[in-house]
Amino acid sequence: MIVVLRLGHRPDRDQRVTTHVALTARALGADEVWVSTKDLSLERSVRGVVDRFGGGFVVKTGVDWRKAIRSWNGTVVHLTMYGESLSQALPTVPDDDLMIVVGAEKVPREVYDLAHRNISVGNQPHSEVAALAIFLDRLKGGNAVERDIEGRMKIIPNPRGKTVVDGRNG
Ligand code: SAM
Repeated sequence: MIVVLRLGHRPDRDQRVTTHVALTARALGADEVWVSTKDLSLERSVRGVVDRFGGGFVVKTGVDWRKAIRSWNGTVVHLTMYGESLSQALPTVPDDDLMIVVGAEKVPREVYDLAHRNISVGNQPHSEVAALAIFLDRLKGGNAVERDIEGRMKIIPNPRGKTVVDGRNG
Protein backbone atom coordinates (compact mmCIF):
# COMPACT_ATOMS: atom_id res chain seq x y z
CA MET A 1 0.00 0.00 0.00
CA ILE A 2 1.26 3.49 -0.91
CA VAL A 3 -0.29 6.51 0.79
CA VAL A 4 0.41 10.13 -0.05
CA LEU A 5 0.07 12.47 2.93
CA ARG A 6 -0.57 16.06 1.89
CA LEU A 7 0.32 18.63 4.60
CA GLY A 8 -0.77 22.23 4.99
CA HIS A 9 -3.77 22.22 2.63
CA ARG A 10 -5.66 25.55 2.77
CA PRO A 11 -9.13 24.95 1.28
CA ASP A 12 -9.42 28.54 0.07
CA ARG A 13 -6.06 28.59 -1.74
CA ASP A 14 -4.88 25.04 -2.41
CA GLN A 15 -7.98 23.31 -3.75
CA ARG A 16 -6.58 22.97 -7.26
CA VAL A 17 -3.04 21.95 -6.33
CA THR A 18 -4.21 19.44 -3.73
CA THR A 19 -6.64 17.96 -6.27
CA HIS A 20 -3.68 17.59 -8.62
CA VAL A 21 -1.64 15.94 -5.86
CA ALA A 22 -4.49 13.44 -5.38
CA LEU A 23 -5.03 12.76 -9.09
CA THR A 24 -1.30 12.39 -9.68
CA ALA A 25 -1.06 9.98 -6.75
CA ARG A 26 -3.91 7.93 -8.22
CA ALA A 27 -2.70 7.98 -11.83
CA LEU A 28 0.86 7.01 -10.88
CA GLY A 29 0.05 4.09 -8.63
CA ALA A 30 -0.59 5.27 -5.06
CA ASP A 31 -3.57 3.74 -3.26
CA GLU A 32 -4.73 6.59 -1.04
CA VAL A 33 -4.29 10.29 -0.41
CA TRP A 34 -4.65 11.68 3.09
CA VAL A 35 -5.04 15.43 3.50
CA SER A 36 -4.34 17.13 6.82
CA THR A 37 -7.27 19.61 6.56
CA LYS A 38 -10.94 18.64 6.31
CA ASP A 39 -12.23 19.54 2.84
CA LEU A 40 -15.43 17.85 1.67
CA SER A 41 -15.41 19.61 -1.67
CA LEU A 42 -11.93 18.23 -2.40
CA GLU A 43 -13.12 14.74 -1.41
CA ARG A 44 -16.10 15.08 -3.77
CA SER A 45 -14.02 16.11 -6.76
CA VAL A 46 -11.47 13.31 -6.32
CA ARG A 47 -14.24 10.72 -5.80
CA GLY A 48 -15.91 12.03 -8.97
CA VAL A 49 -12.80 11.12 -10.97
CA VAL A 50 -12.58 7.71 -9.27
CA ASP A 51 -16.26 7.05 -10.08
CA ARG A 52 -15.72 7.85 -13.75
CA PHE A 53 -12.22 6.54 -14.36
CA GLY A 54 -12.14 3.63 -11.94
CA GLY A 55 -9.77 2.02 -9.50
CA GLY A 56 -10.10 1.78 -5.76
CA PHE A 57 -8.34 5.02 -4.90
CA VAL A 58 -9.28 6.41 -1.47
CA VAL A 59 -9.28 10.06 -0.37
CA LYS A 60 -9.41 11.09 3.30
CA THR A 61 -9.30 14.63 4.62
CA GLY A 62 -8.98 16.02 8.13
CA VAL A 63 -6.25 13.52 8.97
CA ASP A 64 -4.08 14.19 12.04
CA TRP A 65 -0.70 14.17 10.24
CA ARG A 66 1.43 13.70 13.35
CA LYS A 67 -0.56 10.65 14.42
CA ALA A 68 -0.63 9.33 10.84
CA ILE A 69 3.15 9.53 10.46
CA ARG A 70 3.85 8.13 13.92
CA SER A 71 1.52 5.18 13.53
CA TRP A 72 2.50 4.29 9.94
CA ASN A 73 3.52 0.68 9.73
CA GLY A 74 6.22 1.03 7.10
CA THR A 75 8.56 3.62 5.63
CA VAL A 76 7.81 7.35 5.66
CA VAL A 77 9.45 9.40 2.90
CA HIS A 78 9.19 13.18 3.08
CA LEU A 79 9.79 14.87 -0.29
CA THR A 80 11.76 18.08 0.21
CA MET A 81 14.33 19.92 -1.87
CA TYR A 82 16.65 19.78 1.15
CA GLY A 83 16.78 16.00 1.37
CA GLU A 84 19.17 13.32 0.12
CA SER A 85 19.23 12.85 -3.64
CA LEU A 86 16.55 10.70 -5.22
CA SER A 87 18.96 8.65 -7.33
CA GLN A 88 21.07 7.73 -4.34
CA ALA A 89 18.11 7.07 -2.07
CA LEU A 90 15.95 5.07 -4.48
CA PRO A 91 17.64 1.65 -4.26
CA THR A 92 16.90 1.54 -0.51
CA VAL A 93 13.31 2.83 -0.67
CA PRO A 94 10.70 0.04 -0.50
CA ASP A 95 7.86 0.25 -3.02
CA ASP A 96 5.23 -1.02 -0.58
CA ASP A 97 4.00 0.00 2.89
CA LEU A 98 5.19 3.44 1.93
CA MET A 99 3.92 6.83 3.07
CA ILE A 100 5.01 9.77 0.90
CA VAL A 101 4.69 13.17 2.58
CA VAL A 102 4.43 16.39 0.55
CA GLY A 103 3.98 19.93 1.83
CA ALA A 104 2.30 23.12 0.67
CA GLU A 105 3.87 26.17 2.30
CA LYS A 106 6.52 25.83 4.99
CA VAL A 107 6.68 22.30 6.37
CA PRO A 108 7.07 22.06 10.18
CA ARG A 109 10.58 21.07 11.30
CA GLU A 110 9.12 18.08 13.14
CA VAL A 111 8.24 16.42 9.82
CA TYR A 112 11.93 16.23 8.87
CA ASP A 113 12.59 14.36 12.13
CA LEU A 114 9.52 12.11 12.08
CA ALA A 115 10.11 10.95 8.49
CA HIS A 116 12.42 7.98 8.01
CA ARG A 117 13.83 9.57 4.87
CA ASN A 118 13.95 13.14 3.56
CA ILE A 119 14.43 12.86 -0.19
CA SER A 120 14.89 15.56 -2.80
CA VAL A 121 13.81 15.45 -6.41
CA GLY A 122 16.63 17.74 -7.44
CA ASN A 123 17.71 20.53 -5.09
CA GLN A 124 15.76 23.30 -6.80
CA PRO A 125 12.40 24.47 -5.46
CA HIS A 126 9.52 23.36 -7.69
CA SER A 127 6.19 21.77 -6.89
CA GLU A 128 4.70 19.00 -4.78
CA VAL A 129 2.89 17.72 -7.88
CA ALA A 130 6.11 17.52 -9.91
CA ALA A 131 8.06 16.02 -7.00
CA LEU A 132 5.40 13.37 -6.41
CA ALA A 133 5.09 12.46 -10.09
CA ILE A 134 8.81 12.05 -10.61
CA PHE A 135 9.23 10.16 -7.34
CA LEU A 136 6.42 7.68 -8.11
CA ASP A 137 7.57 7.19 -11.67
CA ARG A 138 11.14 6.46 -10.58
CA LEU A 139 9.85 4.21 -7.79
CA LYS A 140 7.89 2.22 -10.39
CA GLY A 141 10.89 1.88 -12.68
CA GLY A 142 9.75 4.59 -15.11
CA ASN A 143 6.47 2.83 -15.94
CA ALA A 144 4.06 4.44 -13.49
CA VAL A 145 1.72 5.75 -16.18
CA GLU A 146 1.59 2.54 -18.23
CA ARG A 147 -0.65 0.82 -15.69
CA ASP A 148 -4.21 0.25 -16.84
CA ILE A 149 -6.98 1.27 -14.44
CA GLU A 150 -10.34 -0.36 -15.16
CA GLY A 151 -13.16 2.16 -15.11
CA ARG A 152 -16.41 3.25 -16.72
CA MET A 153 -14.66 5.92 -18.78
CA LYS A 154 -11.74 4.80 -20.87
CA ILE A 155 -9.57 6.92 -23.10
CA ILE A 156 -8.18 5.30 -26.20
CA PRO A 157 -4.92 6.91 -27.28
CA ASN A 158 -5.42 8.99 -30.39
CA PRO A 159 -2.74 11.08 -32.10
CA ARG A 160 -5.31 13.68 -33.12
CA GLY A 161 -8.56 14.29 -31.26
CA LYS A 162 -10.29 12.55 -28.38
CA THR A 163 -11.56 8.99 -28.24
CA VAL A 164 -13.47 8.29 -25.05
CA VAL A 165 -15.42 5.12 -24.35
CA ASP A 166 -18.15 5.65 -21.79
CA GLY A 167 -19.30 2.28 -20.42
CA ARG A 168 -22.65 3.84 -19.50
CA ASN A 169 -23.44 4.21 -23.20
CA GLY A 170 -22.52 0.75 -24.31
N1 SAM B 1 9.50 26.41 0.89
C1 SAM B 1 8.75 25.27 1.28
C2 SAM B 1 9.46 24.53 2.40
O1 SAM B 1 10.34 25.06 2.97
O2 SAM B 1 9.07 23.39 2.68
C3 SAM B 1 8.54 24.36 0.06
C4 SAM B 1 7.23 24.59 -0.55
S1 SAM B 1 6.98 23.72 -2.08
C5 SAM B 1 6.02 24.85 -2.99
C6 SAM B 1 5.75 22.53 -1.63
C7 SAM B 1 6.23 21.12 -1.53
O3 SAM B 1 6.75 20.69 -2.78
C8 SAM B 1 7.32 20.84 -0.55
O4 SAM B 1 6.84 20.75 0.76
C9 SAM B 1 7.85 19.50 -1.06
O5 SAM B 1 7.07 18.42 -0.60
C10 SAM B 1 7.67 19.65 -2.58
N2 SAM B 1 8.91 20.00 -3.28
C11 SAM B 1 9.21 21.17 -3.89
N3 SAM B 1 10.42 21.13 -4.46
C12 SAM B 1 10.92 19.88 -4.21
C13 SAM B 1 12.13 19.21 -4.56
N4 SAM B 1 13.08 19.80 -5.25
N5 SAM B 1 12.27 17.94 -4.14
C14 SAM B 1 11.31 17.31 -3.43
N6 SAM B 1 10.15 17.90 -3.07
C15 SAM B 1 9.95 19.16 -3.47
